[in-house]
Amino acid sequence: MDHFSLEEWRKYVKNELSEPERELYEDHLYICDQCLEVYLEAMDEEENSLPEMQGEDEFTNLVMAQITGGNPEEADKEHKELSTKESWFERWFPIAFACFMLVGGLVTMYRDKNQIDQD
Ligand SMILES: [Zn+2]
Repeated sequence: MDHFSLEEWRKYVKNELSEPERELYEDHLYICDQCLEVYLEAMDEEENSLPEMQGEDEFTNLVMAQITGGNPEEADKEHKELSTKESWFERWFPIAFACFMLVGGLVTMYRDKNQIDQD
């Protein structure tokens, strides 16, 4: 029986094999305990491999940047959101106030008119 080497199982774990090859490897795993162990070893190596550690570092840096505000893009976005909220209030409050005064004025005029009519 032909067995697969650790190097070959590494390729399998890293998804570097074609679909027919993968099926061949998987079929062999069911019937071969020896290769199952090698496969698990390759899995362990892959889990502890350098690219994932780098990915973790990148993630940590990203979180740290967000906490400290070290990422200018993120800080800018936050500032924009804040100023949008402020300008919304500044824009609509005078209009709302003007409408309130206008309605109040109309009500007063309507009342005056009714009083005149009653006289
Ligand atoms: Zn085998």
